[in-house]
Amino acid sequence: MKETLPCPGCDSKFRVSEILEHSTISWPDLNWIYFQCPNCEKHTHIQVKKEKMATVNFIGAPGPDWELIKSINVPSLEARMDPGFAHVWLEEKHYEFKARE
Ligand SMILES: [Zn+2]
Repeated sequence: MKETLPCPGCDSKFRVSEILEHSTISWPDLNWIYFQCPNCEKHTHIQVKKEKMATVNFIGAPGPDWELIKSINVPSLEARMDPGFAHVWLEEKHYEFKARE
């Protein structure tokens, strides 16, 4: 798994598995999880879809609006969104992220 995404805060590169391990909550209706960079501690929204992961620039005001910062292809990534949880599989490993209340 050599695909990486850079943290928008400090530009550190993270593998997909590292992003999943450092994410907590989710917005299943938007396919987003919430990543906290272990280096600079900045939070970033991450869009997770089948075979794709991207960093998201969320513009809260006067929005809400958002745009993708960087998108990568991750052939072994699967995602299923439930109202209460985001479920993500990477190379058979399952991750779940509780929906933000
Ligand atoms: Zn960072």
